[in-house]
Amino acid sequence: PKEAASQKIMMKVYNMAKASPEELDEALKRPSQKSSEAIMKIVAPIIDDVRKNGDKAVLAYTHKFEKATSLTSPVLKAPFPEALMELPAETVRAIDVSFENIRKFHAAQKEERPLKVETMPGVVCSRFSRPIEAVGLYVPGGTAVLPSTALMLGVPAMVAGCKKIVIASPPRSDGTITPEIVYVAHKVGAESIVLAGGAQAVAAMAYGTESVSKVDKILGPGNQFVTAAKMYVSNDTNAGVGIDMPAGPSEVLVIADKDANPAFVASDLLSQAEHGVDSQVVLIAVDLTDAQLAAIEAELHRQAMELPRVDIVRGSIAHSVTVRVKTVDEAMEISNKYAPEHLILQLKDAEKVVDKVMNAGSVFIGEWTPESVGDYSAGVNHSLPTYGYAKQYSGVNLASFVKHITSSNLTADGLRNVGEAVMQLAKVEELDAHRRAVSIRLEHMNR
Ligand code: NAD
Repeated sequence: PKEAASQKIMMKVYNMAKASPEELDEALKRPSQKSSEAIMKIVAPIIDDVRKNGDKAVLAYTHKFEKATSLTSPVLKAPFPEALMELPAETVRAIDVSFENIRKFHAAQKEERPLKVETMPGVVCSRFSRPIEAVGLYVPGGTAVLPSTALMLGVPAMVAGCKKIVIASPPRSDGTITPEIVYVAHKVGAESIVLAGGAQAVAAMAYGTESVSKVDKILGPGNQFVTAAKMYVSNDTNAGVGIDMPAGPSEVLVIADKDANPAFVASDLLSQAEHGVDSQVVLIAVDLTDAQLAAIEAELHRQAMELPRVDIVRGSIAHSVTVRVKTVDEAMEISNKYAPEHLILQLKDAEKVVDKVMNAGSVFIGEWTPESVGDYSAGVNHSLPTYGYAKQYSGVNLASFVKHITSSNLTADGLRNVGEAVMQLAKVEELDAHRRAVSIRLEHMNR
């Protein structure tokens, strides 16, 4: 271990001009995840137990996993006692500033008015949104305190107008929940906090128990047990519950050119590398000299050695890579293929490069925009697609908390105009009742 501790913390370097495409693909592969089948075998009986035995089962798992044996109810209902959210003034201020920025940005995502289009004379189609009534927000616990996750899920739910907001988070061993989370729950108007974690918390919210409200959708990150449980309940038609997206370890891709400050680049890489040993960070170095790249590497090592979480950083840097390229276009080609959760552009004219971004969870533009501002306080959401899912998923946003409903409204002329097409297609599909629903009306008009 002593030897390992003195080893230089460094990412493996590839050169796009020299490496084969296969070699690059291999280098940019995400660290493999534990088999989901094995995890499913662990979570399925827990979910089953909670479904059958309700509160009693939830409590038993909390006693077991969180060692919170003094806990006698799995739920804390609003209004939450002041004493449970006592915080230093500077923490309250930080939460309040972040809350307000997140609120503003998500409120701006509201549709001003329903979308309305007359597709043919007399044929009006519209689309309007309604909040999902009850949402369950999972805030990971364990040793970490994650009020930011409570904000990123709770504020959009509040802005969307969800009637019932349930927050679940594993309690500490004394049975209490961190005051930061209680304060956020209070601010977003949560109806309750489920004092449980893992599959038992997910199951309680999916099916409901004596004291836990059943919800319509469960959102939020968590470890592999949480993720597996979310997938399990979303596949169970008896639960009738939706989920946000598949979640994996955090990742960042930084694109830097010779104008980038090496210390800034290194700090951004490390801010993701410290998340967990399974995190991955990627640096795309655009036309850097050997000396310029060496300056970033030196900073990376120097700053990493100062971090309390240096051991985690060693683990994540071990499967992280630098790719040297000649042009910004080459860099973007790699980035779009990788589809990073976070993309940082430390480039001259970074703003212009945004047009070339096709796949990414959230983009951080220019040297004054560290990724941490998005994690906490800028206003953008930090619940983002990882593991390449940015190719098909959006991060959590206002739309995650609403449904879109469409409507059609025809006049008699409208039905005359579109009726022929409907009847013809119904005929092709041999659905005669469909055809008749139109013809019976047209005949009625002609009478
Ligand atoms: P967690 O809340 O995700 O999970 C705790 C629960 O895991 C326990 O309550 C227990 O039910 C379950 N569990 C643990 N061991 C188990 C076992 N052997 N069998 C069955 N269930 C078991 O907390 P965590 O474990 O500390 O993980 C936090 C996760 O959140 C990490 O994976 C991290 O990547 C992620 N995270 C996400 C963000 C974010 O995107 N906002 C931020 C930080 C962390």
